[in-house]
Amino acid sequence: MPNHGSDELCLDPEDWEEFRATAHSALDTAIEFLKTVRERPVWRPVPQEVRFSLERPVPVEPTPLREVYKDFTESILPYATGNIHPRFFGWVHGAGMASGIVSEALAAAMNSNCGGRDHGAVYVERAVISWCRQIFGFPEDASGLLVSGTSMANLIGIGVARHWFDETIRRNGLASHTSVPVAYASAEAHESIARALEILGLGAASLRKIPVKRDFTIDSQLLAAQVAQDRQAGLQPFCVAGSAGTVNTGAIDPLDDLASFCAAEGLWFHVDGALGALAVLSETTRDRLHGIERADSLAFDFHKWAQVAYDCGCILVRRADLHRAAFSMRQPSCGQPAYLAGMDRGLAGGGDWACEYGPELSRGFRALKVWFALREHGTRNIGRLIAQNCAQAEHLAERIAGEPELQLLAPVSLNIVCFRFAPPGLRDGKMPDASLDRLNQEIVADVQEAGVAAPSTARIDGSLAIRANITNHRSRRDDLDILADAVLSAGRRRLGCLSFSAPAGSA
Ligand SMILES: *Cc1c(COP(=O)(O)O)cnc(C)c1O
Repeated sequence: MPNHGSDELCLDPEDWEEFRATAHSALDTAIEFLKTVRERPVWRPVPQEVRFSLERPVPVEPTPLREVYKDFTESILPYATGNIHPRFFGWVHGAGMASGIVSEALAAAMNSNCGGRDHGAVYVERAVISWCRQIFGFPEDASGLLVSGTSMANLIGIGVARHWFDETIRRNGLASHTSVPVAYASAEAHESIARALEILGLGAASLRKIPVKRDFTIDSQLLAAQVAQDRQAGLQPFCVAGSAGTVNTGAIDPLDDLASFCAAEGLWFHVDGALGALAVLSETTRDRLHGIERADSLAFDFHKWAQVAYDCGCILVRRADLHRAAFSMRQPSCGQPAYLAGMDRGLAGGGDWACEYGPELSRGFRALKVWFALREHGTRNIGRLIAQNCAQAEHLAERIAGEPELQLLAPVSLNIVCFRFAPPGLRDGKMPDASLDRLNQEIVADVQEAGVAAPSTARIDGSLAIRANITNHRSRRDDLDILADAVLSAGRRRLGCLSFSAPAGSA
């Protein structure tokens, strides 16, 4: 360990010039990696010997940085998820952006703890939250917090709802409760809603999953009927979680109707906008999110459609006082621990601290990468990219409509296309459902393993769908055609194998 001419240890490099050379080389590696992404396969499996090489014993003795870095370039870098690649269409992944390399490195240099206190990073986060309020039309005094992602943002939003519903639960749990609080979301809502209720002690079963209509949005009439029925049964409805872009098909619940329903019924209106909320930035999609500005709490991700590096989500809460009351440890009822005491001046000043608005105390400087991203690209271009991805989804849907062997399984409401390889001779029960599902599952794995493209799968009305989610600024229309071609040829190849091995007499 370097001793810098002293008998005391320190972790800084002894030779800063040598460190500079390694750091510059790492920066060049990162830039080349991004610049050449299109030339590489989307994904490749991690070979066994590479996995073994990562299983090292605890590194008791130091290793020179350049050696650690060399191991990284050989054993880790080549095996990325693939989501920066223009033909990554799996799940809902953002593609990141080049300047993330810069903002993340600079945030690492500052190493700010953004839990609270008075320093520059805190004001950057406040500026970002203020932009969010403006983007979504929230009131000027609404509160917000950057978090790891929408799972955490949903937890916080529903946590505030729970506190609004009954402020004694924070201290006493449900011990003294005789009636059961219940929440509502569509059957297509993300699992993180149920999980939030689970973690908040209300139980995942307290979520009523309301059936969806043909377009996969919540059936508002069934919602109203369920709320009325629950009230009659003596339960206590407290929250509706609307979806602004469901994970399976991108469906957007009728947010304005839900807001009115919640206002009339005295329910908290939470919106899970992980994927779709930022579609307010595009002229072509904004109207469909009408009503989002009426949410009591709104969860969304920067690491998806806004292309900010992982990880970063956000929660906005209309009523800052409730938000703080739901989570702060710096209030009399929570004992106000001395190590969290604030001051009027000095480093312990700064007014409200971020740690009072969520469960985390120490927090990194997530705000910097958002601040860089939004300033560098501007919300108008992010909106244009969102519209571009939606147009690409339309393009893929048209291509599928023109290919007899492919079948669209859900309407394209935003940027997600669910389809399958199902030549007419195999549809409508001519091939057992389970076999058709398996065929499509294999096609997805074939296409991923070939490194050509990375779609994922979804269940649509019980059938396995090949699912292409397009939240990628690097994707072009051609890339969607390459995906369709790859699915067709993998499907035909598999069918060829099937008929070859099929017993004589079967068609
Ligand atoms: C991705 C997603 C989530 C979860 O967000 P994370 O950022 O992965 O925690 C929740 N809801 C929807 C609709 C999503 O697409």
